[in-house]
This record gives sequence, structure tokens and C-alpha cells, in this order.
Amino acid sequence: MSQKDLESLRSQIDDLNLEILRLINERAAVVNEIGKIKEKQGVNRYDPLRERHMLDLIKEHNQGPLNQMTVDYIFKQIFKTALKQLEADKKKELLVSRKKKSEDTVININGELIGQGKPSFVFGPCAVESYEQVAAVAASIKAKGEKLIRGGAYKPRTSPYDFQGLGLEGLKILKRVSEEYGLGVITEIVTPGHLEEALDYIDVIQIGARNMQNFELLKAAGATNKPVLLKRGLAATIDEFIHAAEYIMSKGNENIILCERGIRTYEKATRNTLDISAVPVLKQETHLPVFVDVTHSTGRRDLLLPCAKAAIAIGADGVMAEVHPDPSVALSDSQQQMDIPTFDAFYETLQKFMKNYEIHA
Ligand code: PEP
Ligand code: MN
Repeated sequence: MSQKDLESLRSQIDDLNLEILRLINERAAVVNEIGKIKEKQGVNRYDPLRERHMLDLIKEHNQGPLNQMTVDYIFKQIFKTALKQLEADKKKELLVSRKKKSEDTVININGELIGQGKPSFVFGPCAVESYEQVAAVAASIKAKGEKLIRGGAYKPRTSPYDFQGLGLEGLKILKRVSEEYGLGVITEIVTPGHLEEALDYIDVIQIGARNMQNFELLKAAGATNKPVLLKRGLAATIDEFIHAAEYIMSKGNENIILCERGIRTYEKATRNTLDISAVPVLKQETHLPVFVDVTHSTGRRDLLLPCAKAAIAIGADGVMAEVHPDPSVALSDSQQQMDIPTFDAFYETLQKFMKNYEIHA
């Protein structure tokens, strides 16, 4: 074979490549059209029977030299790629996505504008234990000019024998304290069954890490008109976290705060590993406010302050931390809650930090 023949064959290959390229793109455009029709009909894009039919038809017409296994493989790749592309396009359309809405979502809770540029703060005990306990923390929050309080009435605990929370009684305590001290209440709801009853007592529905993929709870919270604070799951990727928020928004509730609270890793020095870079990732990918819970991410009182500084410096819209009048006798998380003097010092240092860095408090 001469050099000339080789060049001519290569040029033939180039033409064929371009022809294949044109055809797979033409095919992708048709798949797109089909996708739009299926979307309208609300049916699944992947249809295994249709795929079997296509492969059979291809087999019938395959005259070689490629064997059937190879041909099947190539076409399977073409089918898969087209579907993947559709999924990627669909992802761009998520309601929580920055691509869908470029402006930041700002949520007004009891006069506190969350996501407006200045960091917000959510303090309060891990669990509601008594009126006196919550009121002592509330007085300290109010004295600082803050507007929000947290506290769990339903506690999802690792052991069924640990304190499970006061339930409805706890919600009543939160309501009473919120009225007396003028604070907005954030509290965790663990099942859709509690939601309706709880709505009269609370300002923000917290969905905890262990329930981040409780899809029925996400949908039920999405159907209410209360803002939702959604915590990242213990082992959830950022993508799963974003999709959990999408469950809520898909039901019509646009007021969602995302809360990074640490993820489980092999590291034992802290209770969880604070994924600090999740904050800017979430802010880029979504239009929602992003909080950092320094208590559950670190599980260490001595790390609350440096991690809160890091959260603010990296652009978090808020910081959550637990405060208890007497942490050593707390019914949950006694290791990491701040007592009131520690809370005062924590708060004051953060205010100075924000001033120094011209972060408007
Ligand atoms: C909480 O905030 O009370 C709590 C239980 O946190 P998490 O769901 O992040 O563990
Ligand atoms: Mn706790």
C-alpha cells in the first residue's frame, strides 16, 4: 500500500468521523424533543422496552464487520449519553438553583432578614427541658438584640433510651418564651404527623440531619407556609443536600435555609467534620441562605468560636450554636453547649471580629 492510499483512507475516516458526529448530534436533538414531550406527559424518560426494540432493530440490520456485542455496546453508550445529557439539562432547571434565580433569597423571620448580607445568629438549648431553662437563654439572647431562638421539643437520639424531648409540652414552652421575649422560634419536626399541630407554636421548621432524606417530611414541610431550616445529612453529598431542598421547594415553599452541620468522616478529633467549603459551593449553586451549625459539626466547646469565625469569613449567612444555662446537667449534648458567660464572650468576640473585617453586624 502506498503512502498515498493511506492518506486517502485516513481522509475517508475523517469524513466518516464527521458524519458520525453530525448523526449523534442530530440524534441528541431528537432525544431532546422526545424528552420535552415526555416531561409534559409526566412519564419517565428511560423506557427499557423502547430500548430493547431499538437494539433488536439494529441487530436485524447489522451486516458486520463489527460483531453484535460490539455494536450493542456502542449503541448502549449512545443511548446512555443522550439520557445523561437530558439529566444534566434538567439539573440546570432546579428551582433552588442559582441558574433559575440569580438573586439571593432573603427570608424575614421575626424581623430578622436572613440572607441579606449580614450574618444572622440562632442560639438556644439543644433540647427544651423546662420553661426556666429556655427563658434563661432567651433573656440572654434578647439582651444581645438578637431575634431568634432554637430548641428541640422532639429529639432524634441515637439511643431510644436517651431523652426524646418534651414533645408538645416543649412546643408550648417555646411559644410562651417566644411571646414573652419577642423571639422567633426554630424547632425540629421529625414526622409529617406532628407538623400541623406544631405550626401554631413555631416560626421555622427545622429538618434535622437524620431526616434530610425523609422525603415525605420534606414534601409536607414544603406544603406549609413556614420557612424551613434544612440540615445537611450526616453522610449526604452536596448534590443530595441540594436535591433535598428541591423537594421542599417543589411543593411551593421557597423559604429554605440550608445548614451545614458537619459530615461523618474518619476523623475522630471532632464529632463530625465541618465541611466549610460547602458554604461557598452552596452559595454558588443555589440562591438560598446558608448557615453553619458550629455545635453539632465540632462537638467541642473550644472549637465553637474559631469555626464561627471561619463560617462568617467564608460568607455564611448565619451561625447556629447551642446555649444552656447549666450545660453539665443538660439532658442532651452536655459536652458542647455553652453556658451563659461563655455565650456572652463568644458573642462579643464575634461582633468584634465582624467589625474588624467590616462585616456589617
Ligand atoms: C439539632 O440541631 O438539634 C440537631 C439534632 O442537629 P442535627 O440534626 O444537625 O444533628
Ligand atoms: Mn444538640
